[in-house]
Amino acid sequence: MSLENYETVAERLARWLDMEHNGQPRVITHLVSQPGSDICVFRAELWVDSTLISTGWAEEVRGQGNVNKTSHLENCESSSLGRALANAGLAGSDPAKRPSREEMAKVERGASTSGTPFTGTKTITNKMKGKCIHCGGTVDVGQGIATNDGSGWKTSHLDEQCPPEPF
Ligand SMILES: [Zn+2]
Repeated sequence: MSLENYETVAERLARWLDMEHNGQPRVITHLVSQPGSDICVFRAELWVDSTLISTGWAEEVRGQGNVNKTSHLENCESSSLGRALANAGLAGSDPAKRPSREEMAKVERGASTSGTPFTGTKTITNKMKGKCIHCGGTVDVGQGIATNDGSGWKTSHLDEQCPPEPF
């Protein structure tokens, strides 16, 4: 699975704003969870004038995956917007590519995507000792992740945090 094949939320948003609308399109996002908490829940709304076109929800956990160590709020907001845009029909013609790139990155991080049944890549803690697909090093049981995109299980270090090369 390549994330490049998935549209980013920014691209999807630009596409929506460029469409013909019977009024002024606008986007409203709400932080639904407690500010500062480790779990972030965002709700995004797409409006055209005073008509609510669609809503989207997203949840992110602080520290889950590299992107969420520094920007879980922003990431959560983008994901909710991506969902709202998908719900407004902006998902592209290929149903397999309905999730935004941000959502697919989340699937790769091993988090669940709320409200989106997804049967693509499966990521679990590795139950067998294996060789890291990134650095070639050994991943002991439970020390990394095993990912299966339908072509078999691949083992890698957690969040691609491979140990530095020994000198
Ligand atoms: Zn590695």
